[in-house]
Amino acid sequence: MNSWWELGEWSGYQGSELSLHRIECPFCSERGNWAVNNQAEKKKPNGSKVLHFDTLRCGNCAMYVMVFWSGARGHHDYKLVPWPIEKLDEHPEYWPDEVGRFWLQAKRSLRDENWDAAAIMARSALQASLREQKAEVGSLKREIDDLSEKGVLPNIVKDWSHNVRELGNESAHPQPGQKPTDPQDASDIVKFMDYLFEYLYTLPKQIKEYRERKDA
Ligand SMILES: [Zn+2]
Repeated sequence: MNSWWELGEWSGYQGSELSLHRIECPFCSERGNWAVNNQAEKKKPNGSKVLHFDTLRCGNCAMYVMVFWSGARGHHDYKLVPWPIEKLDEHPEYWPDEVGRFWLQAKRSLRDENWDAAAIMARSALQASLREQKAEVGSLKREIDDLSEKGVLPNIVKDWSHNVRELGNESAHPQPGQKPTDPQDASDIVKFMDYLFEYLYTLPKQIKEYRERKDA
């Protein structure tokens, strides 16, 4: 997005109007229980695009949020202040279940500073994902190389994987006498995992949705 006037033009949700039922309260997590407190809008000079600035009051906890939103041709997008802090209670529903289950545990372990657990769960999530992508069975590094050779993963991901120390750790379980996982190493492998899943699952879904909008 190059300008706020493009909000809702290329991404977002179905329907050209903001649907309040979708919005989750960042304070009490109740969804869709909103009363409109104030509304303002501004039309683009020499254009038809309208930006909306609404404040909403939660019917459950009585806190306020501001929603900045705009609709265009059957869809809309919005930004919320403040926004709900990531709770890590579910993985995106379009990810494979096994991948998502390990991903959640890796993310929670990292948040709670359980570095060994974060690294082990990240390796498990990556392995589930690489096998699901039909990598030839081997070490994690070997499987990443294999998918890169097959053109499933770009070279830049393969090159990056060679710098992620925990990917070279072959153990699926803590070993007796094993040194504690370095916090930076745990954080590095989780970041690699996040980008990989973004590439393998989220990006194709966004491209598919974009095409469907273009065809509609
Ligand atoms: Zn609330």
